[in-house]
Formats: sequence, structure tokens, C-alpha cells
Amino acid sequence: MPIYEYTCNDCGAATALRATVAEKTAGLAPLCQACGSTALRQQFRAAGLIGTRAGPAAAPLGAGGGCGPVGCGPAGC
Ligand SMILES: [Zn+2]
Repeated sequence: MPIYEYTCNDCGAATALRATVAEKTAGLAPLCQACGSTALRQQFRAAGLIGTRAGPAAAPLGAGGGCGPVGCGPAGC
């Protein structure tokens, strides 16, 4: 059973949803696990297919969680 990943448009929290393809096709209405919002956008993990990465290239590996120039905070990473 695939796992679909969503990011909340309201609070930015990530939500993973496990559903069958049939359930997904029928239309899922995922809820944000953090704030309960239904305004979620699905995240797609394309392994190596998309060349553009969201993170800054200058960030050294192993330093933080990839938050970028903004940096990690109490609510991040
Ligand atoms: Zn949320």
C-alpha cells in the first residue's frame, strides 16, 4: 500500500497518508495531523527524475535538516 505525503498549506506540517490506489483514485480528503486543516498539497518524491532541488546547494551534508538559509528553529526540523 503506497504512502502519500502531503504538506499543510496552513501550518506547513507534513502528513503521511497510507491508502490504497483505489482509495486515492476515489478521492482522499487528508487532514493535517497538526492543525486539522484540509488544505493539503501532495508531495511527490521523484527519485532522481527532477533535477531541481529545493534546498540550497551550499548547505554542507549532515548539517541540520536542510532548512536552508532560514535555519532550524524550535518549530522546524
Ligand atoms: Zn496544518
